[in-house]
Amino acid sequence: MIWEVVNNHKCALGEGPVWDHDKNRILWVDILEGEIHQFYPESRLHHVYKTGQKTGAIALKKSGGIIAALENGFYEIDIDNQLQNLIYNPEEHLPDNRFNDGKCDPAGRFWAGTMAMNDMPGAGKLYVLEKDLSVATKIEHVGCSNGLAWSLDQKIFYYIDTLTQNVITYNFDISTGHIANPKIAVQIPKNEGYPDGMTIDSEGMLWIAVWNGWKVVRFNPLTGQKISEISLPAAQITSCTFGGKDLTDLYITSAKTGLTPEQLKKQPYAGSLFVVKNSGYQGLKTHQFLG
Ligand code: CA
Repeated sequence: MIWEVVNNHKCALGEGPVWDHDKNRILWVDILEGEIHQFYPESRLHHVYKTGQKTGAIALKKSGGIIAALENGFYEIDIDNQLQNLIYNPEEHLPDNRFNDGKCDPAGRFWAGTMAMNDMPGAGKLYVLEKDLSVATKIEHVGCSNGLAWSLDQKIFYYIDTLTQNVITYNFDISTGHIANPKIAVQIPKNEGYPDGMTIDSEGMLWIAVWNGWKVVRFNPLTGQKISEISLPAAQITSCTFGGKDLTDLYITSAKTGLTPEQLKKQPYAGSLFVVKNSGYQGLKTHQFLG
């Protein structure tokens, strides 16, 4: 499959791509630079909003605007009017933690998890921001909270704690958001890299970005078997999502943070937002926040 870069911008730590089917735009974040990026493929307009904090993940609000998991908690952001309001910081007592990956579930709740900035194992948690803006803890003792996805029948929640190398399945109750009965679905061998962000396609297969793996891999979560992979010209591949009018373009984020000048010479596109157009696969419509 042929990749291309959407433009020449390079993030320190590009992450969390979100396709907006209402406005035909792709959004993503640069966690370390504290930026929310918007790119309109048709006009090629690129807009950058600075949050002033490390920016783990965003989701679109159905009613307009953005929900974000920033270094200092859950925020509501109105980019057009440059407004941001703190909703709640569940880790005010943990200044060495920050939010990482997050996503909305099919019922419109926003899930986002944390990690220690010094990578201390078990220091993070996975939280959910409910539609009434209350916050609950979902999973304790997380190393690096990362990829999230929900199955097509909305009965399974898939979750990556990068430090475990695994994708875990939980039974998911869409009416309450309750998760239970964790089991390993997919294991990424350490010599292939670290599982990072992920998305699911219309056949129920998982697309997993592999940090230090130069690739996105497609796995069958029912068998744990790898089906295929897409090679990319950057080692630190961080997340992916389907976009475009037919949801057949695969957008892939990457990072250049931590690379030596020597490595950067060999990875001139590190930090880019890549797209594989007309991938031959189709994603699902992005779930939006219904609060
Ligand atoms: Ca990530």
